[in-house]
Parts: sequence; structure tokens; C-alpha cells
Amino acid sequence: MTPPIPATLIPGDGIGPEIVDATLAALDALEAPFEWDRKIAGLGGVTASGDPLPAETLDSIRRTRLALKGPLETPSGGGYRSSNVRLREEFQLYANLRPARTIIPGGRFDKIDLMIVRENLEGLYIGHEHYVRIDDDPHAVGMATGINTRQGCRRICEYAFDTAVATGRKKVTLVHKANIMKVLTGLFLETGLQLYEEKYKGQFELDSIIVDACAMKLVLNPWQFDMLVTTNLFGDILSDLVAGLVGGLGMAPGANIGTDAAIFEAVHGSAPDIAGKGIANPIALMLAAALMLDHVKLQDKATRLRTAIDQTLNLDKVRTGDLGGTANTMAFTKALVSRIRGA
Ligand code: NAD
Repeated sequence: MTPPIPATLIPGDGIGPEIVDATLAALDALEAPFEWDRKIAGLGGVTASGDPLPAETLDSIRRTRLALKGPLETPSGGGYRSSNVRLREEFQLYANLRPARTIIPGGRFDKIDLMIVRENLEGLYIGHEHYVRIDDDPHAVGMATGINTRQGCRRICEYAFDTAVATGRKKVTLVHKANIMKVLTGLFLETGLQLYEEKYKGQFELDSIIVDACAMKLVLNPWQFDMLVTTNLFGDILSDLVAGLVGGLGMAPGANIGTDAAIFEAVHGSAPDIAGKGIANPIALMLAAALMLDHVKLQDKATRLRTAIDQTLNLDKVRTGDLGGTANTMAFTKALVSRIRGA
């Protein structure tokens, strides 16, 4: 028997608790040996203790170094700083891995199998911002500082290139905007190209593309790409675009990987518009749990989970509303658990 694996569980806000319960039902059916330490964060943390990222939650992840997390609400504009960004910084989760694979065939974009590797700690996304007052307008000017370091660019490219080699990707594309942000994203491009020449030449094909052209090509012909590696903000935007190619946010998982910890989550947010209705699609978080199983080297269970999702969607035709079906979260989960048990 596999020894228990301590892991932190953050149900999160909005639809978080609903999709986390569904995912736990799937993991239980797989007899995944996670020993959960349930903690709060996000709006739940603010309500319970006035802190969107309570010390107890951080202590738990420091101990387990592994977490499964539901979405956390972040107010737009004012309010507290994103707990997701703070978690990434706290545990130096520098790599964000976002695979996108077609599970339901026959859609507008069929047979998609793309991997986006996004730098998670630097760039324009770090939120170093301020307003400049002019006369009586305190918000006359908004300013943001983006920071990329050679070490950070090298680290993410190394992670991506190693993953490309380990998973047999044929082509890696560096996505940048070095024609305009010559310093900020030029450094990323220069570092990636140098690293390839130094250590990876011949192991896969490397090319590069400007982010706006990449967005267009992803819609016109996504099959020309295999793995995209990019800086924080571009990765954030392109991974939602790519999620759209494979059925929407309900199908897109993400892994945040650092040297000391790893946190697995859905790409989507807390979906306040459907929270509490029991209709959310839990697949993105379930696929994140599959990445977590891969991470702890339980690949057989990860494969069983992915196969059961595939069978529930395509053989049983049980689908939630966002995928054009009529099942609610519970009905989908019940069908999935039967598939896991029968598989
Ligand atoms: P969202 O991803 O929550 O929702 C966008 C749209 O997709 C909504 O119409 C929603 O109903 C739908 N959707 C999302 N997930 C779904 C699912 N599993 N099943 C069915 N439909 C789904 O984006 P938003 O509304 O812009 O953000 C809401 C909150 O979530 C914000 O506070 C934001 O900061 C936060 N957020 C958190 C994370 C995270 O924790 N990783 C990521 C993104 C956004």
C-alpha cells in the first residue's frame, strides 16, 4: 500500500467548495493516499479571520509542500492583494504549467494537445503599481513596473525545456513582445535562445513568436504549436485563449511548481455568477488533481482519472451545462465515480 501523502486542501471561494467536493469523491474512488489538512484562504479567510491568507494556511503548506486549491476571490481595482500571487511568491512557485487537450472530439478545434509554460513570479504581473496625482485628481496617472531577471528567465526556460524533453514535445515556441518591450521581454527571448544553444540544441525544435501574432495563429491554426513558453502576463492571457480551444475554462487545469512546494488548481476563478447553484463543471480541478497525482509519481491513478473523465463525457455523454449538457455537478461526479470504480 502507498504510504499516506500529507497535502493541504483549500476549498476556496464561490464554486470552490462544490468542485473540491466533487474532486475529493473522485480521489476517494481512486484510493489516492492524500492525507488532507483543510485550510482557508481568499474571501473565506477574510470572513473568518480578516486575512485572505491566514498564517495557519501558510504553515500547513510549509509542512506538506503540496496543495490542492479551489479558486480564490480577488477584488478588482481596490481591496486586498491576490492570495494566489502571494502564494506563488511565498513558495517561489516559479513555473505555471497549463496543459490543454481536447477531450470531447468533433468541436471547432479538434485534437488539440498543447502545453503552456508560464513564468509565474516576474514580469508586469507582479503588481508593482502606483497612481500619480496631478492637481486635484489623485488617479491622474496609473503606473506599473515590470521586472524580468536573467535568472528568472533562465529558470523558466530550463523548466520548460526539461519538460519538453521528458514528455517528448517536438517543438517549443518562445512567446514575447521584444519588438516593443525590448528590455523586459527581450531579456526573456535572449535568455531562452542562448539556453537552447548551450544545452538543448537538437533535442527539439525551438522557435519564437510575438505574442499578438501568436494569439492570431492560435485561433487560425493551433496545431502548428506544441509547447509555448512565455512570461507571466502573456501566459495568463494565452492560457485562457487555449482553454477556449478545448471547451472553455471548465476544462483547464494548472500546476504551480516551485523548488520547495507545488500547488494544483483550476485555471478558472470562483465563478460567482453560478456559485451555490450546484452546476459548476468540476473537470478542471479534477485534471489539476491528475497533475498532482503525476507529481507524486502515482501516474497509474492519474491515467485512471483522465480515462474516467473521457469515458464519462464521451461514452456516457454526461456533461455539465458549460459543455452543452444537462448534468449538474453531483450527477457528473456520480457518473465519473462509477467509471473509476468500474475501470
Ligand atoms: P471566472 O473564471 O470565475 O468565470 C468566468 C466565466 O466562466 C463565468 O461565466 C463562470 O460562470 C464560468 N466558469 C468558470 N469556471 C467554471 C466552471 N468550473 N464551470 C462552469 N462555468 C465556469 O472569472 P471571473 O468571473 O473573472 O473571476 C471571479 C473571481 O475569481 C475573481 O475574484 C477573480 O479574481 C478570481 N480568480 C481566481 C483564480 C484562482 O484562484 N486561480 C483565477 C481566476 C480568477
